Amino acid sequence: MSFDLDDLWLEKMSGLTSLSRIQKRRLYRVILVIAIGVSYSLDTLLLTLFYMAGTIASEIPLYYGIAGFVHVLLFSAIHWSGLSDSFNNPHMTLWQMMYAISVQVFGIVLCPQLTQFFLGIMLVIFSFGSLRITLRQTLIIWTFATLAIVLTLAGNDRSNLGIVEPSRVELMLVAITFATILLRTISLGYYATALRMRLYQKTHSLEQAATHDALTGILNRNAMMPAIEEHIALFRRKSIPGCIALLDIDHFKDVNDSLGHLAGDEVLKRLAHHIKLDIRDVDKLGRYGGEEFLLLMPATEDHEGGNIAERLRHNISQMDFDDIMKDRSITISCGLTTIRDGDTTESLLSRADRALYQAKNNGRNQVCLAAD
Ligand code: GH3
Ligand code: MG
Ligand code: MG
Repeated sequence: MSFDLDDLWLEKMSGLTSLSRIQKRRLYRVILVIAIGVSYSLDTLLLTLFYMAGTIASEIPLYYGIAGFVHVLLFSAIHWSGLSDSFNNPHMTLWQMMYAISVQVFGIVLCPQLTQFFLGIMLVIFSFGSLRITLRQTLIIWTFATLAIVLTLAGNDRSNLGIVEPSRVELMLVAITFATILLRTISLGYYATALRMRLYQKTHSLEQAATHDALTGILNRNAMMPAIEEHIALFRRKSIPGCIALLDIDHFKDVNDSLGHLAGDEVLKRLAHHIKLDIRDVDKLGRYGGEEFLLLMPATEDHEGGNIAERLRHNISQMDFDDIMKDRSITISCGLTTIRDGDTTESLLSRADRALYQAKNNGRNQVCLAAD
């Protein structure tokens, strides 16, 4: 299933369990059209007040209200019926903008004394539309609006584009109109920021999921491999030494068998957390397999790596798991090796694996440095 920007908002509709995903997407588009309807209603109200103040004829707010109603009805019907589902931009932003701009142009034609009013509304339309349109569409809609405005104003034979000798009430209405226009454009700016933030969080959580182990929160195997490759390259080019250690929990099957899988999971989590706190910032810890951890220690000689691994082993054996398992401790075995000439990730890992096998064979709960 493809990812849609709108999906960022769909979790807000998690209560609507009877709706399918595609229906929720439609509903979201309809909600945005209704928000546009609210904006039309506000302008219809303002125009009604201008009519009451004697600025414009009574039919103007009526026409405007009808135009807004048709906008909402038309686009809601297209969205809810699913007609727009497969469009490149299912919101039909360009079409909605063209319609709304045409309404403002007619407003200017019918009452040029409120030209500033309708130009102000165009600002709102552009702020709203800019959230979704492409650069090409921006140029199209900008050309359309500019031509419409230029032609309308050029064809205007009335000398006055403003209210002649405005009354106090009319001045107040102009002020209120601009206040609502400012509020609407700034709200849309806020909406755009919220959208960006959500997108950022989504991208971050996808990245996190791709590189981190879900249970323990440490790096996963996929994320560890490039780090090791990088260090092998550093070793080749600059002779910077490096160690890797494979840590495997001893008799972990017994923990699962006697205490259950959930308790086993908890042990894994705590262990990962503990090791993470016990290593240096430069070290990288990942989950290599079920109950195996992989530790990369950059710029580390074998004796130094051995000390670190030995300290980890010892500290782990001292960990307190009393709340999960009484009078029982967890131990690990560790296979350790340094990067050598000609090493690949595979050769390095298989050497560490053999050292780990050796540590198990020698009786577990110990660190074994690869010999061969
Ligand atoms: P050894 O000392 O030889 O390593 O013995 P072991 O029992 O640890 O080794 P073995 O490989 O036989 O068993 C590993 C166990 O780890 C088996 C599996 O049930 C458990 N395991 C692997 N992944 C998970 C996990 O995500 N959660 C839990 N709870 N257990 C896991
Ligand atoms: Mg194992
Ligand atoms: Mg094990």
